[in-house]
Formats: sequence, C-alpha cells, structure tokens
Amino acid sequence: MISRFKQINKLQFVRVVYWLFLTYMVAAFIWWYVTLVKQNDQIANVQYGSIQSNDPFLAQKVNAIQDFQLRKNKQYIGEGLTILFLFLLGAIYVYRSLVKQIRYSNQQQNFMMAVTHELKTPIAITQLNIETLLKRNLDPDQQRKMLEISLLETQRLDNLCNNILLASQLDMGEYQANAQEVDLSLIVSNTLKIFVNRYSGRSFVESVQEGIFLKGESVLLQLLLNNLIDNAIKYSPSGSDIFVDLYEEANKIILSVKDQGVGVPVNDKDKIFEKFYRVGAEYTRSTKGTGLGLYLCKRIAMFHNAKLEVIPNAPKGSIFTFTYHVN
Ligand code: ADP
Repeated sequence: MISRFKQINKLQFVRVVYWLFLTYMVAAFIWWYVTLVKQNDQIANVQYGSIQSNDPFLAQKVNAIQDFQLRKNKQYIGEGLTILFLFLLGAIYVYRSLVKQIRYSNQQQNFMMAVTHELKTPIAITQLNIETLLKRNLDPDQQRKMLEISLLETQRLDNLCNNILLASQLDMGEYQANAQEVDLSLIVSNTLKIFVNRYSGRSFVESVQEGIFLKGESVLLQLLLNNLIDNAIKYSPSGSDIFVDLYEEANKIILSVKDQGVGVPVNDKDKIFEKFYRVGAEYTRSTKGTGLGLYLCKRIAMFHNAKLEVIPNAPKGSIFTFTYHVN
C-alpha cells in the first residue's frame, strides 16, 4: 500500500514539475515575443527620428517604416505561432510518453509484487499440507482434502509459470510457432473436464459442437481457455454458472466463455488486454492475479489470426469471445 502511494506521488510529482516547466517555457516564449515587438517599435522610432521634417519624401519614408514594422510584426506572429504549435505538440507527445512510461513501470512493479505473492502462496500452502500429512495421522478424508488443495495450488502455479514463460518468449520473439490442424472441440472438452474436477463446487455449463478443427497450436489454445475460465471463476460469485460454448457458423468458429460476475467496466474493455493491466486500484483489489492472462490470450488470438473481445453479459457479468475465420 505504501508503495502504491509512492507510485501515485511519483506520477503527481512528475506532472507538477512538467506543467511548471511547460508554463515557464510558454511564458518565456510570450515574453520573448513581446520583447521583439518592443524592439521593432524602438527601431521604427529611431528611424522616424532620423527623418527630417522638411524631407520631400517624408510620407514615403514614413510609409516604408510602417510597412517594414508591420511586416516584421506579422513575421514574429507567424513564426512564433508555428514554433509554439510545434513546441506544444512535442511537449504533449513527451508528456504522454512520460506518463505512459511511469504507469507501465508502476504496473510492472505491481506485477512483480503479484508474482512474488502468487508464487509464494501455493508453495507455502503445499509445503504446509505435506508437512501436516507427514507429521500427523489424519483420516483418509482429511488426507484427500489436503492433497486436493495441494494439487489445486500446484496447478495454479503451473498456469502462472506457463503464462510468464510464454509472455517472455513472445516478448523476446523467441516463441517457435508450430501450427497444425487441431481438434478444438477436444481441447475445450478436455480442459472443461479438468476444471470440473478441480472446482467441484462450481457449475460449468458446456455446449461444445463436436469435430471443430482449426489450424493452430493446441498448447496455446489450451492456455487461452485456461485463462478465460480461470478469470470467469475468479471474477464471479461461487454460486453462479459459467458457460463455455463452441460452435461453427457462417465460416466462423466461435468460442465463448460467459460468466455472471462483476463484469468489465466499459472504459477498461480494451485496457484489460494490455500487459500487467488490472481493473481498479492495486490496494483495493481483493482478487489475486498478475495482469498477464488476457494479454497472452490476445496474443494467442492474434497468433491464430483470430479476434478476442469482451462484451457485457446481461444482466451482469462478461462474455469473452474468440472468433476464428475459417478460410
Ligand atoms: P489477472 O486476472 O491476473 O489480474 P488478466 O490479464 O487475466 O489478469 O485480467 C486483467 C483484468 O481484467 C483483471 O485484473 C480483471 O480486472 C479483468 N477481468 C478479466 N476477466 C474478467 C472477468 N471474467 N470478469 C470481470 N473482469 C475480468
């Protein structure tokens, strides 16, 4: 929490310093313009003073001086406005990049904290369970329960490791693509079976059309589905249903995961696919996570030339849809 405040303060500090600096620059620029105009007036006055009152060309000379003065003033205004425009354009660009960079580094810091936490929790729980099983003579039911919890935690750890590994491989351009004809129906059914076993308290409603094939990577598609279902579980109340649909229509393969949970705020519906982005403030958030899952899902969809989007579910919750165009 302290760190979160530090991050906010850092952003505010940069904002204040930047705007002060910018205001100073613009004020200096306006002052520079005023000085130039004044100087122009003084030059004109000196020139007026050098004309004799009985000069036969008095009117022409005065006109010439006025013309010159006007031309110079127009030149200052024209050049000044162009420079000011370019300067402000650059300043806005720099400001946006700076704020983006700070936000990104804050998100990265949050990610590191989240990862540390996400890694430590399953390890600590599993370790404690194994120690208890070794030390105490528990009845088979209790033993089974402890083993089930440990298995769930290690599976969570496995998913997290897969996400982190894939994200770094994709970022470094090291991911070796190996697209093949895969049975998506089978992947969805098998993944759902794992979830049904893992989360026996949750209700999954499955509607999977058989024999849907596409050219892709089964490991990636499985990861995509894992992340979408994981999120549906995390962001919806335990008594609500989770719907997983797979069907093909009008040359499109559609895979959707629908929940009746908190839903995604309209303003965040694109941002949630950004790396490390999590809705809400870190210190008020109760769910665990790293902000990597949907980023990967988006990358996986892109890898398959497919689209991944979220729409609100009625009356509440969200629907994540993966749409693949069959050639
Ligand atoms: P994580 O769940 O680890 O935070 P994700 O990248 O999977 O990261 O999701 C990013 C954010 O999108 C989440 O923090 C959450 O705020 C939001 N989100 C994802 N899935 C759902 C969902 N099914 N319902 C509501 N919000 C969601």
